[in-house]
Amino acid sequence: MRIEEDIKLGFKDVLIRPKRSTLISRSQVDLYRKFIFKNSKLTWSGIPIIAANMDTIGTFNMVKILSNFHILTAVHKYYSVIEWEKFINSVSEEILRYVIVSTGTSNADFLKIKKIFSLSSSLKYICIDVANGYSEHFINFLKKVRDCFPNKTICAGNVVTGEMVEELILSGADIVKVGIGPGSVCTTRLKTGVGYPQLSAIIECSDAAHGLGGRIISDGGCVFSGDLAKAFGGGADFTMLGGMLAAHEECDGKIIEENGKRFMLFYGMSSQAAMDLYIGGVAKYRSTEGKTIKLLFRGSVESTIRDILGGLRSACTYVGAESLKELTKRTTFIRVSEQENHVFNNKSYCF
Ligand code: 5GP
Repeated sequence: MRIEEDIKLGFKDVLIRPKRSTLISRSQVDLYRKFIFKNSKLTWSGIPIIAANMDTIGTFNMVKILSNFHILTAVHKYYSVIEWEKFINSVSEEILRYVIVSTGTSNADFLKIKKIFSLSSSLKYICIDVANGYSEHFINFLKKVRDCFPNKTICAGNVVTGEMVEELILSGADIVKVGIGPGSVCTTRLKTGVGYPQLSAIIECSDAAHGLGGRIISDGGCVFSGDLAKAFGGGADFTMLGGMLAAHEECDGKIIEENGKRFMLFYGMSSQAAMDLYIGGVAKYRSTEGKTIKLLFRGSVESTIRDILGGLRSACTYVGAESLKELTKRTTFIRVSEQENHVFNNKSYCF
């Protein structure tokens, strides 16, 4: 046993120090990034935010709206090939630029992505997603996918440490998904005691990835647009969102009405709800690592996205970054013990 004494930081542990700026308005800030990926050699440009590949969030309807903002959606792995075919035939090639096809790591998953990618050459992104990206089986699967799809951009994860980021990039990943346990409906840290505070994971993993010409996605833990600013400021190339996009019209959650109010259910992909739905319940040898919550229905995701983008532009103006790309080098984090004034946070004050 060993103890690392360094304090690892989450979003709530820091703020970004303001800096002198020549920007006159938030509208001057450019949130677009352009990447050329290390292994696929493909180029992508857009706003580097990704809707999470959860079955309630990463939906075809989400793609249709977020692609208007040039934002990506990691489409969940539970759509059938026939559903994919219908979707692909109903949208333009431009929209498919913002689609990431998610997969698990079984043989059936492998055969399925081969079929999905044979439907359209405009599909360019694969996300190999497992809760624990430290297994040899996962690395072998990644190598197999890279061999089969040399020209597609591959995201793989999740991991939280630099040495594993390097191993994934050298095994064929272009982008590594970083985050164990920060998610809004995740209980992994409670159930297993395993995890890594997200901001430190971003700082350490982005350093490792960028050293090899790879990229990272910060996956999970963003609650406010300021958290996205901190993720990008810490070195994340992309930020993946679940909870912040939940309970919108474009989601696939079940709607419940109570006392004249509409709510939508949102659950983790390792929750009892998800396991009941997809694998006939929780296997006897394992536990759930996710929970189900009920959120007030929020209408279309468009206004939420505008709010997030507005917050990010504002963060950039506070530190004098003309573009999102510049945010990291203009970021100085200060460690804090308070974030905000809580005095009116009690719901009875809000209307
Ligand atoms: P959020 O943006 O809601 O904070 O985090 C979303 C991320 O949480 C997802 O992209 C995924 O990595 C993670 N996640 C989703 N469902 C579960 C779950 O049931 N258990 C765990 N450990 N993580 C989950």
